[in-house]
Amino acid sequence: MSERPPVTVTAIAGDGIGPEVMAATKRILAAAGARVDWEDAEAGAEIFRRGIATGAPKETLDSIARTGIALKGPLETPVGYGEKSANVTLRKYFELYANIRPTRELTGIKTPFSGRGIDLVIVRENVEDLYAGIEYLQTSGVAECLKLITEPGCERILRLAFSLAHAESRRRLACATKANIMKMTEGMMKRVFEHLAHDHPEIAASHIIIDNCAHQLVIAPEQFDVIVTTNMNGDIISDLAAGLVGGLGVAPSSNIGDDAAMFEAVHGSAPQIAGRNLANPTALLLSAVMMLRHLDDFEAAERVEQAIYVTLAEGRNLTGDIAPRGQGVGTDAYTDQVIANLGRQSGVPSRVYSALRLPQWPAETWHREPPHRALVGLDVFVESAASPDALGRSLVDAVAGSPFHLTSLSNRGAQVWPPTGGRAYLVDHFRARFLLAAPIDDGGAEIADLLARVGVGHRWMHLEKLQRFDGVDAFAKGQGEG
Ligand code: NAP
Repeated sequence: MSERPPVTVTAIAGDGIGPEVMAATKRILAAAGARVDWEDAEAGAEIFRRGIATGAPKETLDSIARTGIALKGPLETPVGYGEKSANVTLRKYFELYANIRPTRELTGIKTPFSGRGIDLVIVRENVEDLYAGIEYLQTSGVAECLKLITEPGCERILRLAFSLAHAESRRRLACATKANIMKMTEGMMKRVFEHLAHDHPEIAASHIIIDNCAHQLVIAPEQFDVIVTTNMNGDIISDLAAGLVGGLGVAPSSNIGDDAAMFEAVHGSAPQIAGRNLANPTALLLSAVMMLRHLDDFEAAERVEQAIYVTLAEGRNLTGDIAPRGQGVGTDAYTDQVIANLGRQSGVPSRVYSALRLPQWPAETWHREPPHRALVGLDVFVESAASPDALGRSLVDAVAGSPFHLTSLSNRGAQVWPPTGGRAYLVDHFRARFLLAAPIDDGGAEIADLLARVGVGHRWMHLEKLQRFDGVDAFAKGQGEG
């Protein structure tokens, strides 16, 4: 038995089956000799019903801030309460920027992929991208969601992915992006990855386009070791990967930030089976194994992991979701079986792990001033039911005599004026691209004048400056634009 001092962990049992899988997990960790003191905290459905719109009360946030570690069951957002989920609240509040999802074949859980030796980790950026929640209806029928990808955001998730490869003795790291289409946003992840790869010659680093990555995960999943990717890509392929080894019911995860880490099962609260002693605690238990390794308690982590592997491989006393039909037992009996198997080794050894060492990111606002910047134009998004030709003529007239000239109109990204011969279905949302005759420094007065001119007779709803940093255009060309 270990002599380690106990570590205090915030335990959020959560909703539905959460309390049952949390109780099972605590019982197994105690039996395994894990030195954990639990600080129980609340979040989820009941908290929303009490009128706390974030789903996570201050006491819970304070507890995680104090302990720096949370183990969390599933949380529900009850219908009719709040727009944000408590999960998102916790991830954002503590800036848990990395979502780590290991996917390892579990002997005893039969899938079409059994025997392939799947053992990979998906590292998903967890706070940026389309999930920043910056959304607008721009016209009554045209919606916009901002996809924000930042260089420091890419750098920290990529550095974590390289560190994780080292900590888990993994040799291959694939960065999966859609950089071929979104050259600035997804392309930023690819560029930073290729830059950082030079510092890690011992890791075979490669880029893969995300759609091919999804395809390859199904065709030949064993080729992957670590995959790092942007938020939405990671959301989708990590569930896909979980499906390869038995589904969300056995999928663990961690959310890592500078100041806190939260470990949670991927599945939801399964309300249909809540309180009936039917829930499978494996996913939360495997998440707790990740937590123990995060706490550098490799010994207890391996004891629990091996006991799970033995239990699943022998197939005795499994919960109904993974047992042969009609042979399922309750959560309690499965938990007893895992405890009985503590100390046994399965035929599948645990990986060799070492501590994940991460840099602390500076607290100040990130900023880098480019040596030279210039304003070359302005995109003005205009709501209009006019034809491209009529709108084009009217905007050309509106800016006559100003330093701007209209160069193009596009509709959902495709150029529609001057006509290209292409066919675009038109909606009441046009991007008018105005360029300056010559670049200027900032253009506050010129922009105000342009907007005043456009605003007479046109309804505009959104602006983007067309900038040039160090001589390079900081904007994408429209489709069909020369
Ligand atoms: P779900 O709770 O994961 O349940 C889907 C089905 O999967 C369940 O009905 C159950 O199947 C099975 N299942 C999931 N976990 C299981 C376990 N540990 N043991 C045995 N069976 C398990 O997904 P959902 O129904 O879409 O979501 C329910 C609620 O959970 C929603 O309010 C959702 O917002 C929330 N949710 C929370 C999280 C989170 O906190 N991270 C994640 C996802 C969903 P059978 O019915 O066949 O028994």
